[in-house]
Amino acid sequence: MGAGAGRHSLSGNATLSPNSASHILAQAGESFLPGPVLLLGAPGVGKGTQAQLLVSRYGIPQISTGDLLRANIARGTELGLKAKEIISSGRLVDDGLVNGMVLNRLQEPDTTRGYILDGYPRTLDQAKFLDRTLTELCLPPQLPVVAINIVVAYDELLRRITGRRICPACKSIYNIYTNVPKSDALCDIEGAALVQRSDDTEPVFVERMRTFDQQTAPVVHHYRKLGRFEEVNGDQPVDSVLAAIESTLLKLREAGK
Ligand SMILES: [Zn+2]
Repeated sequence: MGAGAGRHSLSGNATLSPNSASHILAQAGESFLPGPVLLLGAPGVGKGTQAQLLVSRYGIPQISTGDLLRANIARGTELGLKAKEIISSGRLVDDGLVNGMVLNRLQEPDTTRGYILDGYPRTLDQAKFLDRTLTELCLPPQLPVVAINIVVAYDELLRRITGRRICPACKSIYNIYTNVPKSDALCDIEGAALVQRSDDTEPVFVERMRTFDQQTAPVVHHYRKLGRFEEVNGDQPVDSVLAAIESTLLKLREAGK
């Protein structure tokens, strides 16, 4: 079950069973330094859920460029004001500006044990900038970025997304293939007619996948070349995916990555 497939919120469906591998790993987790982790995943793999679980598991922040951009604009920082100007003129915020925001963020005290990178680095230039910055500034925990890609087969992702139905009343999420409502097309809770979001369609999915592949390929290639890239199977229960990510991360760090 993926992030969007569960009927409940994160706290409802992501509870770890006491005997899960991640529970066993928890003992090692106290002293383990996760370092910077770039979490990758196509639309629908459950990346958001896993990022939140890793955040609470290790007590490290999630750094997403979208959040950074909003925060900088809201606080009226120098970079935020520049970004606001660029966005309002209809242009795209450039690498330099994003890099600057990330650079500032990485010097905040909550990043010293590591952080989950979400949506950054998105380009090869950003990846190189980040590597260079971490080396030159010797920012704690003085570990390089490792990239972990959550992988789910194309057809399964298609089912997860095109099968998704949402209750407009209570926001419950169903899936007509994997999380079927008791009564056809009606919410189990109050009986409201379920709706499909306009972008949960196959054409939108195909386009989003194409964009994801195009954007991710150079970044994946970069980290793979450096031996700092691994894939985990995202087509398993949420806690198993988490356990897979954690053991992959341990393995990468034990290998000196
Ligand atoms: Zn409902």
